[in-house]
Amino acid sequence: MKMKAVRFIQTGKPAEVVDLPKPTPGPGQVLLKIAGAGVCHSDLHILDEPLGLSGPFTLGHENAGHVAALGQGVEGWKEGDAVAVYGPWGCGRCHTCQTSAENYCENHALLGTMGGGLGSDGGMAEYMLVPSARQLVPLGKLDPVTAAPLSDAALTPYHAIKTALPMLTPDASVLVIGIGGLGHMAVQLLKALTPATLIAGDIDDSKLAHARHLGVAHTFNTRDGDAALEGIKQLVGPRGVTVVLDFVGAQATVDLGAQVVGRNSRLSVVGLGGGVVHHAANRPPYGCQVTVPYWGSRTELMEVIALAEAGRIQVDVQSHPLEQAVQVYQWLREGKVRGRAVLTP
Ligand code: NAD
Ligand code: ZN
Ligand code: ZN
Repeated sequence: MKMKAVRFIQTGKPAEVVDLPKPTPGPGQVLLKIAGAGVCHSDLHILDEPLGLSGPFTLGHENAGHVAALGQGVEGWKEGDAVAVYGPWGCGRCHTCQTSAENYCENHALLGTMGGGLGSDGGMAEYMLVPSARQLVPLGKLDPVTAAPLSDAALTPYHAIKTALPMLTPDASVLVIGIGGLGHMAVQLLKALTPATLIAGDIDDSKLAHARHLGVAHTFNTRDGDAALEGIKQLVGPRGVTVVLDFVGAQATVDLGAQVVGRNSRLSVVGLGGGVVHHAANRPPYGCQVTVPYWGSRTELMEVIALAEAGRIQVDVQSHPLEQAVQVYQWLREGKVRGRAVLTP
C-alpha cells in the first residue's frame, strides 16, 4: 500500500509531497496512523539552512495519532490508542536518557538522527514508524490533531519555564519574545504556572493582539527598536526583567533581551535564528544566566499533556491537508500562521 509523505530532499530545495510504501513495524517498533503533524519553524531552518541533516527523509517532528500496528515484542499498547510521539529520540541508555531527558542524550552525535522528522522519517505522512514504544505518551481524551503541537510547541517552552520557576515570583517579570507557535503556548504556560508579570514582544501587531487575547497585559512591537526598549525598561523599573524567553534567537532579539534583563536574571534563548551574546562588565548584568534549552523530557511531556487535559492550556490550531504542506511552509515563512499549523493526512 502507498501513502503520501512530505519529504525533506536537501538544503535549499522546497519540501516535496511524494508517494511512499506504507511501513511495517519491525521488532520493538510501533506503527502509528498520524492524526496531526505540527508545522514547526525549525523545519524552515532545516529546509533553508545547512544544519548537517542529510535527506531525503519525511518531515514532521511534532506528531500524534493512533496506534495502527505493534511490532514483535511490543506490549502494553493496543491498536487505536491515542498517543503523542515524544520527539527527541536518544540512545535510551545514557544517564540523561535514563531520566527521560532524551533531548540531552549524551550519545546524540553517534545516532545519526535527532528524531523522526529530524534525520529519520517523521510524521508528515499517513503512517509513521516509531522506533521504540518508549517514545509513546498517552493522550487520554485529547484530540490528537490539536494535541500534536503539545509535543514541541508546548513541551519546549514548558521545559524552559520549568527550570526558571524559582525565579518567577509574584514580584518578578517575564518577557516572551516571538508570539508564534512556541510563544503563544509559553504565555499560557506562564499564566498557568507562575504569578509573574507577563510582557510580550513581537514585530507583528497581529501576534501581539494574539498575546493580549491570551491575557498578556503588556505588549511591545519590537520593530519600534528604542521605543520598545525604553517601554519595557520603564515598565519593570531598576530591577529589570527577571526572565527573558527568546523564541526568535536572532541578533536583534538576543540584544534586546540582554539590554532589558536585570541582575540575577535569566536570558533563555530558545529560537534558532543565530546571534551573539556580547559580554562585557555587567553586560548582560551580573548574575544573569544565559541558557540554551532544547526541547524537553518525556516526563515533562506528560506534565504538559496533563495541563492540556485540565483545560489550562490550549493550542490555537489551524489544520490543513497534508497535500498543502509546501504552501503552509510558505505561510509560516511569511509570518502568516497564527498559533500552530497542523497537517492532517
Ligand atoms: P513561529 O514562526 O511560529 O513564530 C515566530 C514568531 O516570532 C512570530 O510571531 C514572528 O512574528 C516573531 N518574530 C520573528 N522575528 C522576530 C524579531 N526579530 N523580533 C520579534 N519577533 C519576531 O516559530 P516557532 O515554531 O514558534 O519557532 C520559534 C523558534 O524556536 C524557531 O527558531 C524554531 O526553530 C525554534 N525552536 C527551538 C526549539 C528548541 O528546542 N530550542 C524547539 C522548537 C523550535
Ligand atoms: Zn520543532
Ligand atoms: Zn542517550
